[in-house]
Amino acid sequence: MPSPEDPSERRASAGAAAGRSSAKRPRLSGQTVGALAVTLALLAAGLLVTLGAERPGRVPAAHAEPAFEALGHRGARGLMPENTLPAFRRALAVGVTTLELDVVLTADGVPVVLHDLRLPADRTRTPAGAWLEGPGPAVSSLSLEALQAYDVGCARPGSRAAGRFPEQACLDGVAAPTLAAVLALGEAWSGGRIGYSIETKLSPDEPAASSSPSDLAAAVVEAVRAAGVEARTTVQSFDWRSLAAVQAIAPELPTVHLTVERSWLDNLQRGRPEASPWLAGLDADDFPARPAALVAEAGGAVWSPYYRDLREGDVAAAHDLGLRVVVWTVNDPVDMARLLDDGVDGIVTDYPDRLRVVLADKGRPLPQPFHRPTH
Ligand code: MG
Repeated sequence: MPSPEDPSERRASAGAAAGRSSAKRPRLSGQTVGALAVTLALLAAGLLVTLGAERPGRVPAAHAEPAFEALGHRGARGLMPENTLPAFRRALAVGVTTLELDVVLTADGVPVVLHDLRLPADRTRTPAGAWLEGPGPAVSSLSLEALQAYDVGCARPGSRAAGRFPEQACLDGVAAPTLAAVLALGEAWSGGRIGYSIETKLSPDEPAASSSPSDLAAAVVEAVRAAGVEARTTVQSFDWRSLAAVQAIAPELPTVHLTVERSWLDNLQRGRPEASPWLAGLDADDFPARPAALVAEAGGAVWSPYYRDLREGDVAAAHDLGLRVVVWTVNDPVDMARLLDDGVDGIVTDYPDRLRVVLADKGRPLPQPFHRPTH
């Protein structure tokens, strides 16, 4: 898991955020502070030994475990057109630990950052400038050049997409970026400190429009290695076939196993006779207690449930299995605060600005903002 934050800056941010409360704290003598420091060091050492003994070690050594991950969903979808370079710039400038993004393959095999298998009608204009009248062509049927002739910089006025995110900017002349371009942006702005959570987009329900799990995994791994960001990257998916493919070819990349049990998508498919086609051969009914057990069986490092699916005790059960818990997509500050209190390890949000306010209210460290390099 990525740990892009500079500890000194985190302390500074947390101190600034907790300014009023820290002013009220009683002063401690040097002797007391020294004794506390020794005690904390011993506790930390004990904790590390305990973790080392109990955790199955799914997180590769190169990945430091961050205290908390603040993930900008599709960049910062609440503020900028999703999965575009402007959205990732905004997320970096607001301050997140991790850029969350979705990847599909073009016909010529280039991993591009886009959420949908087909160009969506409510967010796409044709090369001639007209709004799509229905679902557009599959990205997998377009060359990179043909795809990037479309404009994905604005939600169609009056559409559901526009109504959901009224603060989202509407831009002209914005192409879907390549994965390489997003990684290059993140590296240039953060100086190698930002994390990436890359979601492979494919569906067993839409095989004609989907890339093969192994092709998509290979393309993502190649781009991640080419950018040299393996130590700050995780790969996530609802389609665990692609995560198994990543594990096979890139054991250095932790896998993040998405789950959702809703009418609009149910990748666990509990209570059905057959195993879900999303789970790479596993059957959720063989793990009736907790979804986390299923994720552990799949070799995941992180369980990433839809936040409304999370039940009492789920976070503790996941932690007992050595898994981190990253919930999505949380946009209400009340929900954010409750989930932080529940002990989740990360929150995916369309509004990283709101999440920062909640983190500050709780005296939690704030992710470092990054800006356009001046050199
Ligand atoms: Mg995603």
